[in-house]
Amino acid sequence: MNLILMGLPGAGKGTQAEKINEQYKIPHISTGDMFRLAIKEGTPLGKKAKEFMDQGALVPDEVTIGIVQERLAMDDCKDGFLLDGFPRTIAQAEALKDLLANMDKKIDDVIHVDVPEEKLMERLTGRRVCPTCGRTYHVVYNPPEKDGICDKDGTTLIQRDDDTADTVKNRLAVNIKQTEPLLDFYKQEGTLITINGDQQITDVFKDIQKQLEK
Ligand code: AMP
Repeated sequence: MNLILMGLPGAGKGTQAEKINEQYKIPHISTGDMFRLAIKEGTPLGKKAKEFMDQGALVPDEVTIGIVQERLAMDDCKDGFLLDGFPRTIAQAEALKDLLANMDKKIDDVIHVDVPEEKLMERLTGRRVCPTCGRTYHVVYNPPEKDGICDKDGTTLIQRDDDTADTVKNRLAVNIKQTEPLLDFYKQEGTLITINGDQQITDVFKDIQKQLEK
């Protein structure tokens, strides 16, 4: 099962990705996570990505497409994968189509988790992330068992730099502009599935399963 997960920041992609990964045993490939790891490790890729990420801008297509191509060639992707945060541009979508075709593969479904814009601001500023395992929480909607502590590994949760109120507004505007052409692209490809993301986490996942197993 070769999947793409789409949705605006705060739509609950990270949470659903974790559930899809558990249920279908396919690797969750998040370009944002890959860049953040590279920054943490201080690699040349990290240094390059940081310049753009700090400004809330996209990392250039050639860099991003390169890391995705390398990742999809890895053995654990042979029976499927879940892309998250990629593609973000039509050029990336076209490049993905080509590189998959070269591997005799294609995208089966594009899951669009749809949440009204006005809900996203509230969701984003309340988001907390575990810096060790990457699991995401929300102070109101999906709190950890112990306030501010990751359920999985006990690490103190943090707020991502780009989840603060100042940057959220800009991120949403940029993302809305970027997402629309991609939704059109996959609608035309006939692979787009739209899921109502404005419901309980478990209900969103049930809807995803229903659609994938159709
Ligand atoms: P995310 O965690 O998906 O919100 O990504 C965080 C940041 O990483 C984005 O704001 C971009 O700077 C960069 N990034 C992640 N994925 C991509 C992509 N597909 N193309 C370009 N930049 C990306």
